[in-house]
Amino acid sequence: MPMETADLIVVGAGQGGIPLAVDFANDGKRVVLFERKHIGGTCVNVGCTPSKAFLASAHNAGRARAAAGVGVHCDVRIDVPFVMRRVNDIRREWREGAEKHLRDAGVRVVMSEARFVGERTLEGGGIAVHAPLVLLDTGTSPACPPIDGLESVPYYTNETFFDLTDLPKRFAVIGGGYIGLELGQGLRRLGCDVTVLETGKRLIPREDADATEVLAGALRDDGIDLRIGRQASCVRHGDQLSLHLDDDTEIEVDAILVAAGRTPNTDVLDCAKSHVELDARGFVKTDAHLRTTCEGVFALGEVAGQPAFTHVSWEDYRRVKAVIAGGTRTKDDRVLAYCTFTEPQLGRVGANEEEARRNGHDVRVVTYQLEDDARGTEWNLQRGFYRLVVDAKSDAILGATLVGYEAGEFVHTILAHMEAGSTWRVLERSVHIHPTFNEGLPTLARKLL
Ligand SMILES: Cc1cc2nc3c(=O)[nH]c(=O)nc-3n(C[C@H](O)[C@H](O)[C@H](O)COP(=O)(O)OP(=O)(O)OC[C@H]3O[C@@H](n4cnc5c(N)ncnc54)[C@H](O)[C@@H]3O)c2cc1C
Repeated sequence: MPMETADLIVVGAGQGGIPLAVDFANDGKRVVLFERKHIGGTCVNVGCTPSKAFLASAHNAGRARAAAGVGVHCDVRIDVPFVMRRVNDIRREWREGAEKHLRDAGVRVVMSEARFVGERTLEGGGIAVHAPLVLLDTGTSPACPPIDGLESVPYYTNETFFDLTDLPKRFAVIGGGYIGLELGQGLRRLGCDVTVLETGKRLIPREDADATEVLAGALRDDGIDLRIGRQASCVRHGDQLSLHLDDDTEIEVDAILVAAGRTPNTDVLDCAKSHVELDARGFVKTDAHLRTTCEGVFALGEVAGQPAFTHVSWEDYRRVKAVIAGGTRTKDDRVLAYCTFTEPQLGRVGANEEEARRNGHDVRVVTYQLEDDARGTEWNLQRGFYRLVVDAKSDAILGATLVGYEAGEFVHTILAHMEAGSTWRVLERSVHIHPTFNEGLPTLARKLL
């Protein structure tokens, strides 16, 4: 196979790989990008974009039903084929946009799996390319839990779920993390019977226990059968698809959605050929600047073990670009926020109390219940609370957990304060508009006075 050369090789057209490839190509550099499936990676094709388009329909249905609480009675009818067509139209539009972006910049896209065949040298799609710079943005794939019989039945993951054109009636969702909860609630609100199985003692264990309790209550009120602390011991597929649980109960379903963790896409990369080391779980080892153990090879996003969010992968690209240009940015020189897009949402920024104490802070923690909130009461949206964690000595804001209606939006107020290095005292004296949910944030800070 003839050897070609480039200035940059990108493996994986995810959220960090595309912009770096485009920037280099726009600078007149020769860029080769390998992608084995879809341009746009997980987010655009099988992650954020389709899941949030799906939830837009589901949550509108949920809100229409909840409107009875303010005296508005809706007859909710769901056009599932329309919902799924819309999901697919949106992701196709975004994917085509990303493809055009790469084409317009002059990136050479090779639609093939790539693997290392030497130092900074990759092969795929019938070509071998060497470059002084390589970026690995290969992401992760859904993990399959070791449940007897699961491998031999047809089950869905996020990779296949959004291809559905209609929805089976009864779903078991394996996994009570944010993906399982979002899609589980979405399915329920669109008319399916849903059982969610979570093996842990509670949902989303990295969050405060009472925050996950609020979510659990909301999901149960929606009619989801939540089985927490339970796991399927085997799956049977005779005339009927069924799961046998470890408490000896049996659930009959029409479909199974597996959302039980992720595994890094490094199995086929043959990283050793380029002296790129992996950690014990198969993620690419990187230093603080996202450099791998091979000079000139960088990794970012999920495959580098970074927090599994699109905004992290995209932000990583800006760091890699700066580091290549001689800068010193590090992979976590930012305040991290994220959201679970259930209803209510769980918006989180920085540390919770447990993490802050683990990091050696002397903390103060205050909580404000939305049942005491004017906007919450007026709009019948009182489920949830806002919590602030601050450093007792410096008054710095260390983090917040906001559970409630559109809490993922309001958490940015706290993020801005944290990025600006302000204190809870600045938040406390800020006069927010009455009656907004955001008004609850200075009220929360006032509890520290
Ligand atoms: C259902 C779901 C919902 C989500 N919702 C959100 C959300 O609301 N907000 C949010 O911030 N995050 C969300 N995420 C997470 C987000 O999608 C990911 O964190 C993000 O896409 C990771 O980007 P990445 O750049 O690390 O890799 P990816 O986007 O996964 O890109 C990796 C690419 O590499 C390709 N690839 C892998 N191996 C090779 C190889 N050897 N050769 C060539 N190509 C290869 C893959 O095909 C893929 O296209 C969600 C994820 C899922 C599954």
